[in-house]
Amino acid sequence: PPPATRGAAPLSPSLSSPLPTAPAAAVRLCSGAGGEPEAAGGDGAMLRHLARKLRASGPVTVAEYMREALTNPGQGYYTRRGGVGQSGDFITSPEISQVFGELIGIWYVSEWMAMGKPNTFQLVELGPGRGTLTEDILRVFKQLASVLSKCDVSVHLVEVSPKLSEIQAATLTGGKVRPNPEDESAYMKGITKTGIPIFWYRDIQDVPPGYSFYLAHEFFDALPIHKFQRTEKGWREVLVDIDPEVPDQLRFVLSPSRTPATQNFIQPEERRDHVEVCPEAGVIVQRLASRIEKDGGAALVADYGHNGTKTDTFRGFRNHKLHDVLSAPGTADLTADVDFSYLRKMAQGRTATLGPIKQREFLKNMGIDLRLQVLLQNSGDTATREQLLHSYDMLMNPEKMGDCFNFFALLPHHRLVHPDKKDKPQSKSPPPPVAGFNELLLK
Ligand code: SAH
Repeated sequence: PPPATRGAAPLSPSLSSPLPTAPAAAVRLCSGAGGEPEAAGGDGAMLRHLARKLRASGPVTVAEYMREALTNPGQGYYTRRGGVGQSGDFITSPEISQVFGELIGIWYVSEWMAMGKPNTFQLVELGPGRGTLTEDILRVFKQLASVLSKCDVSVHLVEVSPKLSEIQAATLTGGKVRPNPEDESAYMKGITKTGIPIFWYRDIQDVPPGYSFYLAHEFFDALPIHKFQRTEKGWREVLVDIDPEVPDQLRFVLSPSRTPATQNFIQPEERRDHVEVCPEAGVIVQRLASRIEKDGGAALVADYGHNGTKTDTFRGFRNHKLHDVLSAPGTADLTADVDFSYLRKMAQGRTATLGPIKQREFLKNMGIDLRLQVLLQNSGDTATREQLLHSYDMLMNPEKMGDCFNFFALLPHHRLVHPDKKDKPQSKSPPPPVAGFNELLLK
């Protein structure tokens, strides 16, 4: 049997100034947590590349900067380092506890049942990190093999980082994987340890159409954001430029006039003075919503974020510490809180949306307390029990990950239709409540 918990050993480095609410920066903290950024470092290749570019053609948008720093094919942070996990720069829920992925696996099975047990589905994960979450989900699918026996399941991972895709392949297939010829959309394919076909893509658009359950955990926060500042002269975009005073040092500047992005992304009714918008997240949600509308399925998004209320949340992590976003680009993770109100808007009514709901409420509804009890009963030694309690606390404590992480779902409209609103209210029993957002009721 798998170990009861994994990766929850305490992470040592502490912040130079104490944080008001969160534990030592083991997880990527919600914005506003404060703390002094770590000093610069790295080999400077990305900085030199950017400095050349900025000197040649002027300041770039924060989105362009973030895209270069994170996913530049040669020097990007995810491309080269990929930083998830104990030995990396930040740790995520699936890396803290196996229970997290197991409950998400149960969510998919419960939705699959509620939607009439279609005879095939694709599990599509965006930004799978080390592959841990998928591994935990697939273990649940295997344990529930008798329920899923007549269902044809396949796994589809959307991952831009060659380094992380290798780690995912090792975790999930144990080596049963091979590169795919270039003319096919999937760049790699294999068979999971549980015997399911698995494929890798660079873009969600490459994933074949079909009934799919989508998953995006700590994915949207890594996508490039635009930043805007209200000034006396109107909205201006925050740009990244080279500091003329200090060689090879970057700084933020404001665009001298409006930019295409200020015209397109700021709502007329906006009241905040500083706004972050992630158009790439919007485009991906539109694609998910269209795919679900057309082919069926559901999407579960989990991330730290807000409902259109927060302002400056752009921050960096390196070696489990906050890191100055403009220093040593390519060596640190850059992230911004997800604006769930924007995601909801970008679904454009093609699907219904649920949430955001706090992680601790979602996991509670999914039965985390019962699962913890079972694991505690089954674990013989004190160290394991302490680990279990510690990881439960990390996931659930409102001052740790419980409150600032949220769950959000896209579902076909028919999944939520209340019987009163149907033409023939008596013809069918009401659809079962959606687990996680309500209490889990497995029949
Ligand atoms: N879901 C994982 C990892 C989160 S880190 C976990 O919770 O542990 C973000 C992940 O998204 C990494 O796998 C990173 O390589 C991937 N990623 C970042 N930008 C991407 C993009 N534009 N397209 C596809 N994957 C991306």
